[in-house]
Amino acid sequence: MKTEANIFSNSEVTVTYEPNVCIHSEKCIKELSDVFRTSIIPWIDLDASDAERIIKQVNRCPSGALKYQRKLSSIKKAEVKKKPVLETAV
Ligand code: SF4
Repeated sequence: MKTEANIFSNSEVTVTYEPNVCIHSEKCIKELSDVFRTSIIPWIDLDASDAERIIKQVNRCPSGALKYQRKLSSIKKAEVKKKPVLETAV
C-alpha cells in the first residue's frame, strides 16, 4: 500500500516524511526531539528549532524518509547575508 508523504512547512523550509521509506531507527526523535516527536500531532514541529538544525537532522536520516526543501525567500536572505563588502581601491 502506498501512502502519501507527510508535508510540514515553516517560513524557511519544507520537510517531507515518507512513512513507507522510514526504517524507524528513531535517529530523528532521539537527536532532535523538540522537532521530531512521537506522541504529539503534528509529529514534526518546524517551529521548535532553527532551519539549519532541522536540515542537518534531516540529512542524518538513514533511510531517506525525511527530505527538505529550502524556501526561496530563505535562500535570498542567506545570499544577502553572504554578500561581500565592497572593497575600495587605495
Ligand atoms: S531518522 Fe529517518 S528512518 Fe529514522 S525514524 Fe526518523 S524518519 Fe524514520
